[in-house]
Amino acid sequence: MVQGATNWNTELTQEWLQNYVDDWVSFYRKHTVDGNVASYIPILQEANRDHLGISIVGKNGMTIRSGDFEVPFTIQSISKVFSFIVACMGRGLSYVLDRVDVEPTGEAFNSIMHLEMTQLKKPFNPMINAGAITVTSMLEGRTSDEKLEPVFQLLERMLDYRPHLNVDAYESERDSSMRNRAIGYYLLETGYLESDLNITLETYFKQCSIEVTLEDLARIGMIIANDGEDPNNKEEIIPRQVARLAKALMLTCGMYDASGKFAAYVGVPAKSGVSGGIIALSPPRVRDEELPFVTGCGIGVYGPALDDKGNSIAGIRLLRHIANQWDLSLF
Ligand code: GLU
Repeated sequence: MVQGATNWNTELTQEWLQNYVDDWVSFYRKHTVDGNVASYIPILQEANRDHLGISIVGKNGMTIRSGDFEVPFTIQSISKVFSFIVACMGRGLSYVLDRVDVEPTGEAFNSIMHLEMTQLKKPFNPMINAGAITVTSMLEGRTSDEKLEPVFQLLERMLDYRPHLNVDAYESERDSSMRNRAIGYYLLETGYLESDLNITLETYFKQCSIEVTLEDLARIGMIIANDGEDPNNKEEIIPRQVARLAKALMLTCGMYDASGKFAAYVGVPAKSGVSGGIIALSPPRVRDEELPFVTGCGIGVYGPALDDKGNSIAGIRLLRHIANQWDLSLF
Protein backbone atom coordinates (compact mmCIF):
# COMPACT_ATOMS: atom_id res chain seq x y z
CA MET A 1 0.00 0.00 0.00
CA VAL A 2 1.25 3.51 -0.77
CA GLN A 3 2.03 5.52 2.34
CA GLY A 4 0.31 8.77 3.19
CA ALA A 5 2.05 12.11 3.74
CA THR A 6 5.45 11.68 5.30
CA ASN A 7 7.57 13.99 7.34
CA TRP A 8 10.72 14.25 5.24
CA ASN A 9 12.56 16.13 7.96
CA THR A 10 14.05 12.87 9.14
CA GLU A 11 17.09 11.36 7.46
CA LEU A 12 17.03 11.70 3.70
CA THR A 13 19.37 8.81 3.08
CA GLN A 14 19.50 7.09 -0.26
CA GLU A 15 18.46 3.79 1.26
CA TRP A 16 15.46 5.32 2.95
CA LEU A 17 14.24 7.08 -0.19
CA GLN A 18 14.93 3.96 -2.24
CA ASN A 19 12.57 1.92 -0.07
CA TYR A 20 9.78 4.39 -0.64
CA VAL A 21 10.31 4.52 -4.39
CA ASP A 22 10.40 0.70 -4.64
CA ASP A 23 7.11 0.59 -2.81
CA TRP A 24 5.53 3.20 -5.08
CA VAL A 25 6.74 1.53 -8.28
CA SER A 26 5.23 -1.79 -7.29
CA PHE A 27 1.98 -0.07 -6.37
CA TYR A 28 1.68 1.90 -9.62
CA ARG A 29 2.78 -1.02 -11.79
CA LYS A 30 -0.75 -2.35 -11.29
CA HIS A 31 -2.02 0.66 -13.25
CA THR A 32 -0.27 -0.44 -16.45
CA VAL A 33 -3.29 -2.64 -17.27
CA ASP A 34 -5.34 0.54 -17.79
CA GLY A 35 -3.25 1.57 -20.80
CA ASN A 36 -2.08 0.27 -24.17
CA VAL A 37 1.26 0.29 -25.96
CA ALA A 38 1.48 2.50 -29.06
CA SER A 39 0.76 0.63 -32.25
CA TYR A 40 0.88 3.19 -35.06
CA ILE A 41 4.64 2.66 -35.25
CA PRO A 42 4.63 -1.15 -35.58
CA ILE A 43 7.80 -1.86 -33.61
CA LEU A 44 6.48 -0.07 -30.51
CA GLN A 45 3.86 -2.82 -30.14
CA GLU A 46 6.63 -5.19 -29.11
CA ALA A 47 7.15 -3.36 -25.80
CA ASN A 48 6.10 -5.11 -22.59
CA ARG A 49 3.03 -3.32 -21.33
CA ASP A 50 3.72 -4.34 -17.69
CA HIS A 51 7.03 -2.54 -17.54
CA LEU A 52 7.41 0.40 -15.19
CA GLY A 53 10.70 1.87 -14.07
CA ILE A 54 12.22 5.06 -12.76
CA SER A 55 15.61 6.61 -12.25
CA ILE A 56 16.25 9.80 -10.29
CA VAL A 57 19.62 11.57 -10.33
CA GLY A 58 20.25 14.39 -7.88
CA LYS A 59 22.55 17.34 -8.37
CA ASN A 60 24.55 15.97 -5.47
CA GLY A 61 24.95 12.66 -7.31
CA MET A 62 22.42 10.70 -5.26
CA THR A 63 20.78 8.15 -7.57
CA ILE A 64 17.63 6.10 -7.08
CA ARG A 65 16.71 3.33 -9.53
CA SER A 66 13.67 1.16 -9.32
CA GLY A 67 11.53 -1.28 -11.31
CA ASP A 68 12.40 -1.84 -14.97
CA PHE A 69 15.01 0.89 -15.06
CA GLU A 70 17.43 -1.12 -17.19
CA VAL A 71 15.15 -1.60 -20.20
CA PRO A 72 16.42 0.47 -23.18
CA PHE A 73 13.84 2.31 -25.27
CA THR A 74 13.71 4.87 -28.08
CA ILE A 75 13.23 8.47 -27.04
CA GLN A 76 10.56 9.33 -29.66
CA SER A 77 9.16 12.78 -28.88
CA ILE A 78 11.60 13.38 -26.05
CA SER A 79 14.06 14.06 -28.88
CA LYS A 80 12.12 17.26 -29.60
CA VAL A 81 13.72 18.85 -26.56
CA PHE A 82 17.21 17.98 -27.79
CA SER A 83 16.71 19.04 -31.42
CA PHE A 84 15.28 22.33 -30.18
CA ILE A 85 18.29 22.92 -27.92
CA VAL A 86 20.72 22.07 -30.72
CA ALA A 87 18.91 24.26 -33.25
CA CYS A 88 19.02 27.20 -30.81
CA MET A 89 22.70 26.60 -30.10
CA GLY A 90 23.51 26.38 -33.82
CA ARG A 91 21.26 29.04 -35.30
CA GLY A 92 20.60 31.35 -32.36
CA LEU A 93 17.38 31.73 -30.39
CA SER A 94 15.82 34.47 -32.47
CA TYR A 95 16.36 32.58 -35.74
CA VAL A 96 14.56 29.53 -34.35
CA LEU A 97 11.78 31.50 -32.65
CA ASP A 98 11.10 33.43 -35.87
CA ARG A 99 10.10 30.11 -37.40
CA VAL A 100 8.38 28.27 -34.56
CA ASP A 101 6.30 29.68 -31.72
CA VAL A 102 6.17 28.83 -28.00
CA GLU A 103 2.39 28.55 -27.55
CA PRO A 104 0.61 25.41 -26.28
CA THR A 105 -2.01 24.07 -28.69
CA GLY A 106 -4.33 21.87 -26.65
CA GLU A 107 -4.34 19.60 -29.70
CA ALA A 108 -2.83 16.15 -30.27
CA PHE A 109 0.90 16.02 -31.08
CA ASN A 110 0.32 15.02 -34.69
CA SER A 111 -2.53 17.40 -35.48
CA ILE A 112 -2.65 19.00 -38.91
CA MET A 113 -5.89 20.83 -38.23
CA HIS A 114 -4.26 23.65 -36.30
CA LEU A 115 -1.77 24.30 -39.06
CA GLU A 116 -4.55 24.64 -41.57
CA MET A 117 -6.73 26.80 -39.38
CA THR A 118 -3.95 29.29 -38.75
CA GLN A 119 -2.44 29.15 -42.17
CA LEU A 120 -0.34 32.26 -41.98
CA LYS A 121 1.08 31.46 -38.57
CA LYS A 122 4.23 29.55 -37.77
CA PRO A 123 3.89 26.13 -36.08
CA PHE A 124 2.72 26.54 -32.50
CA ASN A 125 5.65 25.07 -30.60
CA PRO A 126 8.65 22.75 -30.99
CA MET A 127 7.09 19.98 -28.87
CA ILE A 128 4.38 19.03 -31.40
CA ASN A 129 5.28 17.27 -34.61
CA ALA A 130 4.77 20.23 -36.95
CA GLY A 131 7.04 22.42 -34.80
CA ALA A 132 9.56 19.65 -34.25
CA ILE A 133 9.81 18.84 -37.96
CA THR A 134 10.32 22.56 -38.64
CA VAL A 135 13.06 22.68 -36.00
CA THR A 136 14.70 19.56 -37.42
CA SER A 137 14.78 21.21 -40.84
CA MET A 138 16.87 24.01 -39.25
CA LEU A 139 19.62 21.66 -38.07
CA GLU A 140 22.74 22.34 -40.08
CA GLY A 141 24.14 19.74 -42.48
CA ARG A 142 23.43 18.25 -45.90
CA THR A 143 22.51 14.71 -44.85
CA SER A 144 20.45 13.35 -41.97
CA ASP A 145 23.61 12.02 -40.33
CA GLU A 146 25.31 15.42 -40.59
CA LYS A 147 22.24 17.10 -39.13
CA LEU A 148 22.08 14.67 -36.24
CA GLU A 149 25.76 14.82 -35.41
CA PRO A 150 25.42 17.83 -33.03
CA VAL A 151 22.45 16.14 -31.34
CA PHE A 152 24.59 13.06 -30.68
CA GLN A 153 27.45 15.30 -29.55
CA LEU A 154 25.20 17.10 -27.08
CA LEU A 155 23.96 13.79 -25.68
CA GLU A 156 27.49 12.44 -25.49
CA ARG A 157 28.69 15.46 -23.52
CA MET A 158 25.92 14.95 -20.99
CA LEU A 159 26.15 11.17 -20.75
CA ASP A 160 29.85 10.46 -21.27
CA TYR A 161 28.97 7.88 -23.92
CA ARG A 162 27.40 8.11 -27.36
CA PRO A 163 23.89 6.63 -27.48
CA HIS A 164 23.09 4.61 -30.58
CA LEU A 165 20.39 4.75 -33.18
CA ASN A 166 17.91 1.86 -33.08
CA VAL A 167 17.83 1.11 -36.80
CA ASP A 168 14.80 -1.21 -36.57
CA ALA A 169 12.78 1.53 -34.85
CA TYR A 170 13.90 4.06 -37.46
CA GLU A 171 12.87 1.79 -40.34
CA SER A 172 9.58 0.94 -38.67
CA GLU A 173 8.64 4.61 -38.38
CA ARG A 174 10.05 5.56 -41.78
CA ASP A 175 7.88 2.92 -43.44
CA SER A 176 4.69 3.69 -41.55
CA SER A 177 4.58 7.35 -40.68
CA MET A 178 2.24 8.72 -43.33
CA ARG A 179 0.84 11.43 -41.09
CA ASN A 180 4.28 12.92 -40.45
CA ARG A 181 4.82 12.93 -44.21
CA ALA A 182 1.52 14.79 -44.58
CA ILE A 183 2.66 17.35 -42.01
CA GLY A 184 5.98 17.62 -43.84
CA TYR A 185 4.26 18.32 -47.18
CA TYR A 186 2.06 20.89 -45.53
CA LEU A 187 5.10 22.65 -44.05
CA LEU A 188 6.80 22.52 -47.42
CA GLU A 189 3.83 24.18 -49.06
CA THR A 190 3.64 26.91 -46.44
CA GLY A 191 7.35 27.66 -46.70
CA TYR A 192 8.47 26.67 -43.21
CA LEU A 193 10.90 23.91 -44.11
CA GLU A 194 14.53 25.00 -44.20
CA SER A 195 15.84 21.78 -45.77
CA ASP A 196 14.81 19.18 -48.29
CA LEU A 197 11.62 17.42 -47.14
CA ASN A 198 12.92 13.86 -47.39
CA ILE A 199 16.14 14.65 -45.57
CA THR A 200 14.21 16.49 -42.88
CA LEU A 201 11.83 13.55 -42.33
CA GLU A 202 14.70 11.05 -42.36
CA THR A 203 16.45 13.15 -39.71
CA TYR A 204 13.27 13.43 -37.65
CA PHE A 205 12.60 9.67 -37.75
CA LYS A 206 16.21 9.00 -36.77
CA GLN A 207 16.20 11.45 -33.86
CA CYS A 208 13.06 9.72 -32.51
CA SER A 209 14.86 6.36 -32.74
CA ILE A 210 17.82 7.20 -30.51
CA GLU A 211 17.94 4.58 -27.77
CA VAL A 212 18.48 5.48 -24.11
CA THR A 213 17.99 4.16 -20.60
CA LEU A 214 16.24 5.83 -17.70
CA GLU A 215 19.47 6.80 -16.10
CA ASP A 216 20.38 8.70 -19.27
CA LEU A 217 17.13 10.67 -19.14
CA ALA A 218 17.54 11.38 -15.43
CA ARG A 219 21.08 12.64 -15.94
CA ILE A 220 20.06 14.89 -18.84
CA GLY A 221 17.09 16.15 -16.81
CA MET A 222 19.38 16.99 -13.93
CA ILE A 223 21.63 19.08 -16.21
CA ILE A 224 18.66 20.95 -17.70
CA ALA A 225 17.31 21.48 -14.16
CA ASN A 226 20.67 23.03 -13.34
CA ASP A 227 20.22 25.58 -16.17
CA GLY A 228 22.42 23.60 -18.55
CA GLU A 229 25.47 23.30 -16.33
CA ASP A 230 26.94 19.91 -15.42
CA PRO A 231 27.32 20.11 -11.61
CA ASN A 232 30.14 17.54 -11.66
CA ASN A 233 32.61 19.77 -13.49
CA LYS A 234 30.76 23.11 -13.63
CA GLU A 235 30.89 22.99 -17.42
CA GLU A 236 28.17 24.85 -19.33
CA ILE A 237 26.73 22.30 -21.74
CA ILE A 238 23.59 24.20 -22.73
CA PRO A 239 23.48 28.03 -22.64
CA ARG A 240 21.40 29.11 -19.65
CA GLN A 241 18.86 31.02 -21.75
CA VAL A 242 18.27 27.99 -24.00
CA ALA A 243 17.95 25.64 -21.01
CA ARG A 244 15.37 27.97 -19.46
CA LEU A 245 13.34 28.13 -22.63
CA ALA A 246 13.47 24.34 -22.94
CA LYS A 247 12.11 24.06 -19.37
CA ALA A 248 9.29 26.50 -20.11
CA LEU A 249 8.34 24.56 -23.24
CA MET A 250 8.43 21.27 -21.37
CA LEU A 251 6.17 22.68 -18.67
CA THR A 252 3.63 24.22 -21.03
CA CYS A 253 3.72 21.84 -24.01
CA GLY A 254 5.66 18.71 -23.02
CA MET A 255 2.87 16.27 -22.13
CA TYR A 256 0.78 16.46 -25.29
CA ASP A 257 -2.73 17.83 -24.79
CA ALA A 258 -2.55 16.86 -21.11
CA SER A 259 0.17 19.47 -20.46
CA GLY A 260 -2.14 21.81 -18.52
CA LYS A 261 -3.30 19.07 -16.16
CA PHE A 262 0.24 17.81 -15.71
CA ALA A 263 1.45 21.34 -14.83
CA ALA A 264 -1.43 21.74 -12.39
CA TYR A 265 -1.17 18.38 -10.62
CA VAL A 266 2.50 17.47 -10.97
CA GLY A 267 4.01 20.89 -11.57
CA VAL A 268 7.42 20.07 -13.05
CA PRO A 269 8.82 20.46 -16.58
CA ALA A 270 8.55 17.13 -18.43
CA LYS A 271 8.43 15.67 -21.91
CA SER A 272 6.99 12.34 -22.86
CA GLY A 273 7.26 10.08 -25.89
CA VAL A 274 4.99 7.41 -27.34
CA SER A 275 7.48 4.69 -26.44
CA GLY A 276 6.41 5.34 -22.83
CA GLY A 277 9.43 7.35 -21.72
CA ILE A 278 9.19 10.60 -19.77
CA ILE A 279 11.99 12.98 -18.92
CA ALA A 280 11.13 15.22 -15.97
CA LEU A 281 13.12 17.53 -13.77
CA SER A 282 12.90 19.44 -10.55
CA PRO A 283 14.90 22.67 -10.37
CA PRO A 284 16.46 23.63 -7.01
CA ARG A 285 13.71 24.76 -4.66
CA VAL A 286 13.64 26.93 -1.58
CA ARG A 287 11.52 25.58 1.27
CA ASP A 288 11.62 25.95 5.02
CA GLU A 289 11.93 22.24 5.55
CA GLU A 290 14.37 19.57 4.44
CA LEU A 291 13.01 17.76 1.38
CA PRO A 292 14.30 15.02 -0.90
CA PHE A 293 16.40 16.33 -3.81
CA VAL A 294 15.96 19.93 -2.72
CA THR A 295 18.98 21.05 -4.77
CA GLY A 296 17.35 19.70 -7.92
CA CYS A 297 17.14 16.42 -9.80
CA GLY A 298 16.41 14.82 -13.12
CA ILE A 299 13.91 11.98 -13.43
CA GLY A 300 13.47 9.35 -16.10
CA VAL A 301 10.32 7.23 -16.14
CA TYR A 302 9.47 4.37 -18.49
CA GLY A 303 6.13 2.60 -18.80
CA PRO A 304 5.02 1.73 -22.36
CA ALA A 305 1.31 1.34 -21.53
CA LEU A 306 -0.10 4.71 -22.60
CA ASP A 307 -3.23 6.66 -21.74
CA ASP A 308 -5.51 8.14 -24.40
CA LYS A 309 -3.29 11.23 -24.74
CA GLY A 310 -0.16 9.17 -25.42
CA ASN A 311 1.47 9.54 -22.01
CA SER A 312 2.69 6.60 -19.90
CA ILE A 313 -0.38 5.82 -17.81
CA ALA A 314 1.38 4.36 -14.79
CA GLY A 315 4.40 6.64 -15.28
CA ILE A 316 2.31 9.79 -14.95
CA ARG A 317 0.60 8.50 -11.81
CA LEU A 318 3.92 7.50 -10.29
CA LEU A 319 5.42 10.91 -11.08
CA ARG A 320 2.42 12.69 -9.64
CA HIS A 321 2.69 10.71 -6.44
CA ILE A 322 6.42 11.37 -6.05
CA ALA A 323 6.03 15.06 -6.87
CA ASN A 324 3.30 15.40 -4.26
CA GLN A 325 5.14 13.40 -1.62
CA TRP A 326 8.42 15.25 -2.09
CA ASP A 327 6.90 18.65 -2.87
CA LEU A 328 8.67 18.87 -6.23
CA SER A 329 6.15 21.23 -7.81
CA LEU A 330 7.33 24.62 -8.98
CA PHE A 331 4.12 26.18 -7.68
N1 GLU B 1 8.13 9.38 -33.72
C1 GLU B 1 6.84 9.66 -33.21
C2 GLU B 1 6.01 10.45 -34.19
O1 GLU B 1 6.46 11.43 -34.69
C3 GLU B 1 7.00 10.43 -31.95
C4 GLU B 1 5.69 10.79 -31.37
C5 GLU B 1 5.75 10.97 -29.90
O2 GLU B 1 6.56 10.36 -29.20
O3 GLU B 1 4.96 11.79 -29.45
O4 GLU B 1 4.91 10.11 -34.50
